[in-house]
Amino acid sequence: MDNNIVVMKFGGTSVGDAQKIKMVARKAIETKASGKDVVVTVSAMGHTTDELIELSKRVSASPSRREMDMLLSTGEQVSIALLAMAIEEQTYKAVSLTGSQAGIFTDDVYSEAKILTIDTKRIFDELKDGKIVIIAGFQGINQHGDITTLGRGGSDTTAVAVASALDARYCEIFTDVSGVYTTDPNIVPGAKKISAVSYDEMLELASSGAKVLHLRAVEFAKKHGVVVHVRSSFNNTEGTWIMDIDKEMEQAVVSGVSYDENQVKISVFGIPDKPGIAARLFDAFAGANINVDMIVQNVGEGGIAAISFTIKNEDLLIAKKVIQDIRDKLEIKEIAIDTDIAKVSIVGAGMKTHPGVAARMFACLGDNGINIEMISTSPIIISCVIRQDKAKEAIKIIHECFELDK
Ligand code: ADP
Ligand code: ASP
Ligand code: MG
Repeated sequence: MDNNIVVMKFGGTSVGDAQKIKMVARKAIETKASGKDVVVTVSAMGHTTDELIELSKRVSASPSRREMDMLLSTGEQVSIALLAMAIEEQTYKAVSLTGSQAGIFTDDVYSEAKILTIDTKRIFDELKDGKIVIIAGFQGINQHGDITTLGRGGSDTTAVAVASALDARYCEIFTDVSGVYTTDPNIVPGAKKISAVSYDEMLELASSGAKVLHLRAVEFAKKHGVVVHVRSSFNNTEGTWIMDIDKEMEQAVVSGVSYDENQVKISVFGIPDKPGIAARLFDAFAGANINVDMIVQNVGEGGIAAISFTIKNEDLLIAKKVIQDIRDKLEIKEIAIDTDIAKVSIVGAGMKTHPGVAARMFACLGDNGINIEMISTSPIIISCVIRQDKAKEAIKIIHECFELDK
């Protein structure tokens, strides 16, 4: 690395109004004045993205994903322009770039697009010209020249991908909390800030609902070795470093607790218990770009099986179509959809070497009258599906049970 580039990303709350945009401008200018080349990525202001989604619902019950991306990408376009103006107002040079102007090329999967490459020429040219370069988060362009978006929370991914493409020194994610905590500090006041988290643990936390970092951003950081610093937009305290952590070090049995209310459980009943059925079922979902999370199969009497699985809420509409299309072919007798579920998870690299962690989690929930409906485990994460109205209580209980507040 022979450059002095840093990437700074500011989320929606951090650019929530004109005053906050001016504050972000000052932070970018301070960094520039300290001798760095500065690239800033921003999200849409405040709740703009949610508001745009609400607006779309007023004109269509099932808007196409292409048009949703066209709509949602406008949010970030507003904040990049305002931030560039606020910086120029302080007589510093700045330029705002949309995803396409910044050379961010993605695949064709509207609303969940993956970044394929970043053509960095324009960004480097602007930096050479002494400008603070401001890039719209969450968006890119596909091979047809159409705007795509990277999925909710995707501005983090823009920032990390840009940092990787520019070979930046590090990527700072400025947000409305002071770092990554043992659980969501807005729900459990006793949550503790973690000073450093390994890429693997952060991957599991992000994939299980800790929305402080977008999952793809962590995947990118791990793959390309980008050091990420999550910290507050509103104070200067040290946040949380996401990086390779010395494997020799004693690792926490449980580092964090997360929850995800954005899940739906689909159950299909009365399917034949024979080879190839599950493959055909999940192939159909994969074909529609729907990620399936937990899967449980029960075999009943007489060679008849039931499969339950979970998907993201926003995929439900398409999932319903997929199931209807294959219902007859797979001889599905009955379908049930349950939107009132949540997934609670515990993550910790130390669990690999400490038996009994799962049993302890189940006991915490059971002792407090919380019923577990589905379970999944892998080396460093244990997840349970429970009733949604119990999710917040559950993470408080689990956090306490594992003494993470101590
Ligand atoms: P931004 O708009 O800056 O991208 P997000 O709302 O996407 O911010 O992410 C920050 C939020 O993530 C916090 O306000 C917090 O409520 C939530 N969160 C969930 N789990 C955690 C965790 N383990 N540590 C910190 N924040 C968390
Ligand atoms: N504005 C987008 C969202 O609300 C992207 C982001 O904030 O990261 O999901
Ligand atoms: Mg976010």
